[in-house]
Amino acid sequence: MKRGPYFLVPLGASPLKGELLEEMKLTFLGTGTSVGVPVIGCQCEVCRSHDPRDQRLRASVLLELNGRNILIDASTDFRQQALRYGINHIHAIILTHAHADHIFGLDEMRIYNYLQGGVIPCYGNRTTINSLREMFKYIFAAPPDSKGIPRITTHIVEGRFELFGQEVIPVEVHHGELKILGYRVGSLAYIADCSHLEEDSLRLLQGLDLFILGTLRYKPHPTHFSLSQALEVVARVRPRRAYLTHLSHDFGYNKVSRELPPGVHLAYDGLELVSD
Ligand SMILES: [Zn+2]
Ligand SMILES: [Zn+2]
Ligand SMILES: [Zn+2]
Repeated sequence: MKRGPYFLVPLGASPLKGELLEEMKLTFLGTGTSVGVPVIGCQCEVCRSHDPRDQRLRASVLLELNGRNILIDASTDFRQQALRYGINHIHAIILTHAHADHIFGLDEMRIYNYLQGGVIPCYGNRTTINSLREMFKYIFAAPPDSKGIPRITTHIVEGRFELFGQEVIPVEVHHGELKILGYRVGSLAYIADCSHLEEDSLRLLQGLDLFILGTLRYKPHPTHFSLSQALEVVARVRPRRAYLTHLSHDFGYNKVSRELPPGVHLAYDGLELVSD
């Protein structure tokens, strides 16, 4: 089934007849690394490519779960993403960490406060929430009746938690020196920035239908997986399918797609995956 230039990919087995299961839809709002692709000032083949799958906004996904919109990371490009994909509600935000490319869209939540009323809960580990409160002082240090600023409540993730009737499992990952979070929701897991996964975290990723993993480039990098490292992790996790995201201009969609093992794909902006 096609929608616009993008494909709707079924995720998981069809429900048994008569079995009522909730649908979970994931949309890649952005699949680019922190500077996006094309990179400002770069004339490389990928940055000049006209293939929309080579044009990457900053990394973020929207999870539609039981009729609620959960935003995983609020990217620098969030406004553009919200307009492009018609996101008219945000019911909760889950943050992987507080690097600029993952949180600088937070100011755009103002419009959702206006559209839907109420505050928007925002989840992250203690370091992330502390950084957020520091970096967005104008939001969090403002008097409660302030106008013109996003109304967001912060929630520190210290273990599994429930969101709209679904358990969310935080998965701790190393991002260089930082310990940040990926998240598992049902049989789907999203890990954006990562350079190492410990055994305990790998255990939480067993039995996945869909595994999304950040992969920066061919060469090793101190804070992100290279392609060969990411493929090693995928081989250990053994999901039914894996999608690589947070991609740099090293990766031309067509070229890299031909190099990937079966079941592993490059994600691209606008790709939708559906789980029954
Ligand atoms: Zn990042
Ligand atoms: Zn380039
Ligand atoms: Zn980062």
